[in-house]
Amino acid sequence: MVPHVFEPATTGRSKCRGCGHPILKGEIRFGESVPNLFAEGDTTLWFHPLCAAYKRAQSLLEALEQATEPSLDRPALEQAARKSLEHEKLQRIDGGERSPTGQAKCRGCHEPIEKGSWRVRLVFYDEGRFAPGGFLHLKCRKDYFETDDISDHVLHFSPSLSPADREELFTALSTQPT
Ligand SMILES: [Zn+2]
Ligand SMILES: [Zn+2]
Repeated sequence: MVPHVFEPATTGRSKCRGCGHPILKGEIRFGESVPNLFAEGDTTLWFHPLCAAYKRAQSLLEALEQATEPSLDRPALEQAARKSLEHEKLQRIDGGERSPTGQAKCRGCHEPIEKGSWRVRLVFYDEGRFAPGGFLHLKCRKDYFETDDISDHVLHFSPSLSPADREELFTALSTQPT
């Protein structure tokens, strides 16, 4: 098995598996080595380091032990990864959004999520892929994640929200679920 790596991106063409955004040329990226399902050997999944700390915490921490890249923000990466491992379902968080319809049911309580209300988007990781995993009411976060402190994870994967929406979502996430 090829070890995981940190290295500067040689092109600007790789996309982060965690957030879906491009990794800029020269930016340090994290390469998670996983078995190739379609051929012999391994394949590499590329991530922004912080995206991997949130979604692939164990692999990132393993790689961080060996890493020599001086520009890595180790304390931030370690803190994010340790939090993800402490409550492992946090790694399923793929961002927050307003529910565009009232059709989706919450993964936690199985009740519909009201149109226009905030919901957490989930993904499930399986053998090198992230598959859509449904949605969760904000109020159901504590039962589902076993912690209500999820705002770092949610906001990190919500880069397209306007500043006002981020603020509103942050406030909602800072309120104790009832
Ligand atoms: Zn990313
Ligand atoms: Zn719910």
